[in-house]
Amino acid sequence: LREKIRDLEKSFTQKYPPVKFLSEKDRKRILVTGGAGFVGSHLTDKLMMDGHEVTVVDNFFTGRKRNVEHWIGHENFELINHDVVEPLYIEVDQIYHLASPASPPSYMYNPIKTLKTNTIGTLNMLGLAKRVGARLLLASTSEVYGDPEVHPQTEDYWGHVNPIGPRACYDEGKRVAETMCYAYMKQPPDLITENRASHQDGKAPVSGRKSRGTCGAPGSPSSVLQEGVEVRVARIFNTFGPRMHMNDGRVVSNFILQALQGEPLTVYGSGSQTRAFQYVRTSEIYKVGNSALSPAQPSASTLPQKADPRRHIIPSANTGASSAPSSDLVNGLVALMNSNVSSPVNLGNPEEHTILEFAELIKNLVGSGSEIQFLSEAQDDPQKRKPDIKKAKLMLGWEPVVPLEEGLNKAIHYFRKELEYQANNQYI
Ligand code: UDP
Repeated sequence: LREKIRDLEKSFTQKYPPVKFLSEKDRKRILVTGGAGFVGSHLTDKLMMDGHEVTVVDNFFTGRKRNVEHWIGHENFELINHDVVEPLYIEVDQIYHLASPASPPSYMYNPIKTLKTNTIGTLNMLGLAKRVGARLLLASTSEVYGDPEVHPQTEDYWGHVNPIGPRACYDEGKRVAETMCYAYMKQPPDLITENRASHQDGKAPVSGRKSRGTCGAPGSPSSVLQEGVEVRVARIFNTFGPRMHMNDGRVVSNFILQALQGEPLTVYGSGSQTRAFQYVRTSEIYKVGNSALSPAQPSASTLPQKADPRRHIIPSANTGASSAPSSDLVNGLVALMNSNVSSPVNLGNPEEHTILEFAELIKNLVGSGSEIQFLSEAQDDPQKRKPDIKKAKLMLGWEPVVPLEEGLNKAIHYFRKELEYQANNQYI
């Protein structure tokens, strides 16, 4: 007990959020592409706090350094400014491949770049996974179902996507990214014979920790894999929460910001189209505005304080206790990565609402007098979307548990602080 108390005290005086101790055997080297983005940075927090070594790769197109700056300098953490469209040579055990703009305005801003990121970028990451024997999880999307004719959407639905519409760069980019994953999974790599001689027993280092320094460069001793690449595919449905970009353009951030600023809430079309929103992660480690939550020295109040079995907050520093796979999106991603489910899995909240209902709910939660303004309908806007999550429940024991209003209140708090921060001219 005394040791535990000492660890706890240490966690509140050290400059980083609490990190569990993992033995060398359990500690993984994990690459998170897009790790400075909205979802990627929450995932990075969880992996770091679970005690792994995390390398974040981001080109900062939509990601932001401040989303991960509370880890900079930590011995388990590395941040690389790199675009996945260029090859990357690094030695890792797992790759969470999240890099891509994800909101409609940001992925439509430069459709060619979106296509390159999702095609060439995914090929590069699969090539890396093949060379070093890493498992790769692709952050795919509900957009692979397009404007669905099946409701709710199950994983075996093939989708209804306009291949030449404004959303195609993202939808088709993710669809081909999934195709690439399964091609790399099914096709035995040609490097086996080329490199067999470098291993005495001819066996590939498909699991476990590998020697450092080879960086996964083609032809390096670690470039051997007898099986196809181990892949995991998460089809992520609409997600919201702290660290969404202020100019993200997605409906939740737009409505909250509009409500907070007394501007009209812009509903595209009639507002009868539906979505179902999941909360990103129940963790309070984020820097909001100019508050006292310095990322380098988070106050005790910003750190997870106690075990909460429902929310799976990391209980305390260095206890070795593990956070259970349940709750919100980030835990779903980690549960899927560490499962044996190689086929696609929907991760989302099945609670469906119309966009007009969302507008009214957010207005009420903010206590705003904003009007609701109806604008023209967005082209190819999916009319209905709601995940069927039976597979995630059955295979991963996962389901979202953060109630919508609770999540929205956290997001409202975050954006309120961000606006205060902007008003004080400390952040542009
Ligand atoms: N939407 C809206 N007003 C906004 C932004 C979005 O009415 O200011 C609508 C959009 O047309 C879509 C839904 O909200 O029907 C969700 O849009 P979002 O961009 O968040 O994500 P999507 O699910 O379309 O990828």
